[in-house]
Amino acid sequence: MGYFIFLIVVLIICIWAGGVIFEKKGRKRGNGQGLGCLLGPLGVLIAALLPENPKGVEERELESGENKKCPFCAEIIKAEAKICKHCGKEQEILEKYRLFFKKFHWNTADEEYKDFIYAKDEISAAEKGKSICDKNSWTFVKISKM
Ligand SMILES: [Zn+2]
Repeated sequence: MGYFIFLIVVLIICIWAGGVIFEKKGRKRGNGQGLGCLLGPLGVLIAALLPENPKGVEERELESGENKKCPFCAEIIKAEAKICKHCGKEQEILEKYRLFFKKFHWNTADEEYKDFIYAKDEISAAEKGKSICDKNSWTFVKISKM
């Protein structure tokens, strides 16, 4: 019985680790969890050895608001950059907004989540906040200029 419980615990850890590793690499969390579930520690090892998905990583960086896409050369640059480091074109200065979300996950219920993003104006900041919330099933509470 003790051995059985041990196996279950190992399996749960493998599912969790597979998901976390995949997400970090810009891949789908569910696929990493599946790998950990089917193959256990071997699946976690495979997840760790797989290369990053550049498109997924790029998407995550854009979503965080720390980075943006240069409108001239489409390379990823810092949101605060005044000049693109790839093509040297001058960038439109984006304002900083702080977004307030409510998370409804079991482990962070009722906890207010604050993060900042860069946007042209309040409307586009709110649009970005709403899309972040739609994706993560959070509730968008309010927005304030920084
Ligand atoms: Zn550029």
